[in-house]
Amino acid sequence: MFEKILIANRGEIALRVLRACRELGVKTVVVHSEADRDAKYVRLADESVCIGPATPRDSYLNMPALISAAEVTDAEAIHPGYGFLSENADFAERVEKSGFVFIGPRPESIRTMGDKVSAKQAMIAAGVPVVPGSGGALPDDPREIQRIAAEVGYPVIIKAAGGGGGRGMRVVYTEAALLNAVAMTRTEAGAAFNNPEVYLEKFLENPRHIEIQVLADGEGKAVWLGERDCSMQRRHQKIIEEAPAPGIGRALVERIGERCAEACRQMRYRGAGTFEFLYENGEFFFIEMNTRIQVEHTITEMITGIDLVQQQLRIAAGEKFTLRQRDVHLRGHAIECRINAEDPYKFTPSPGRITNWHTPGGPGVRMDSHVFTGYTVPPYYDSMIAKLITYGDDRHQAIMRMDIALSEMIVEGVQTNIPLHRELMQDARFVEGGTSIHYLEQKLAARA
Ligand code: ADP
Repeated sequence: MFEKILIANRGEIALRVLRACRELGVKTVVVHSEADRDAKYVRLADESVCIGPATPRDSYLNMPALISAAEVTDAEAIHPGYGFLSENADFAERVEKSGFVFIGPRPESIRTMGDKVSAKQAMIAAGVPVVPGSGGALPDDPREIQRIAAEVGYPVIIKAAGGGGGRGMRVVYTEAALLNAVAMTRTEAGAAFNNPEVYLEKFLENPRHIEIQVLADGEGKAVWLGERDCSMQRRHQKIIEEAPAPGIGRALVERIGERCAEACRQMRYRGAGTFEFLYENGEFFFIEMNTRIQVEHTITEMITGIDLVQQQLRIAAGEKFTLRQRDVHLRGHAIECRINAEDPYKFTPSPGRITNWHTPGGPGVRMDSHVFTGYTVPPYYDSMIAKLITYGDDRHQAIMRMDIALSEMIVEGVQTNIPLHRELMQDARFVEGGTSIHYLEQKLAARA
């Protein structure tokens, strides 16, 4: 195991990685911007380094500053968390070239999965089902584009190969709108992602978002750790996740999970990863792979009892990978609510000083948060301030515990989306389970 690692992130995930390190006896260096100087994890870390001003570009995205922080503190490895540089292949490469271990996949894997066209091709090669579509980048010939769209069948979605964060996509319902949509997406993709390549796939009208967690050792061993249902989204941002996914047959999930593990074995994938799928009418369709730890990894930890961040560290340190598929048992049900500092109705960010912070507890309640009374939520970063996770023997108990936990939670000084979460825990359709990715937006529109 490493003696000391550097955590190149902030907020709750910096604290989460720090906790995993402490349990493994690994010393920690935490980097922080000027705005995060007083964070709890900065105080808990063995060492800390200020890497620049508040603006992410000058701090958490500043590669030379991060690498020199690792150099001056003699850290052996860098954990990128999620967001920021976690899926940046150039960063992973620079970390390795500077003599540090990148706690994540090889740069080539990040690069392949970061390009949606090459990711999809890798999945097709590995036998993972994908959304039917152009099978590669769209050609220039307009007639050929029309032919592909007609063959796939309307509606179709035009997506940028380099897209991310829900940007660079356009739905097309008729042939009349097709070529213009392709041209516009190309122009946008060129400007936003520096890559004008676009592809086309069938637009699924009412899918659920289901994803598979994997762990792999980079040498051909891999396991999958169940699925998560992340369909409760607003503007492509997940707000509630749960595991397992309600109402999907185990045999079908197992078949997909095994395909994902097999794809990792074939790619010699290393570390933690997530295969994201759309699920509609009993079928799974791959959309993308995330080559990092995800916000919602917690619910998988609750139902498997496996610490995913510790596994990341063990794999990166080159420890023998002893986890076998037969050792992975799913037990009970877990739900995560992302608590954001925002207006619960208008969704505008609500930064500021938290004057009172009281967190819930009791059986099956887990709170991952860096926040405390007196903490100031900075305006520069993501508005997520906590993840509240509940576990139960079954889904009903997990929902009950979440509802109670939310009712106990007190946050004063900033607004949060706790009222929305409470409303959802009592929402008949959510309680029934299996709502699509459009459910929350439809509910919000009806309420407005
Ligand atoms: P990003 O990397 O930008 O998050 P994804 O490929 O994961 O892009 O797609 C983001 C979201 O867009 C999906 O969660 C889904 O809501 C929607 N989406 C993407 N592809 C399709 C599709 N073929 N049919 C329907 N919705 C889609």
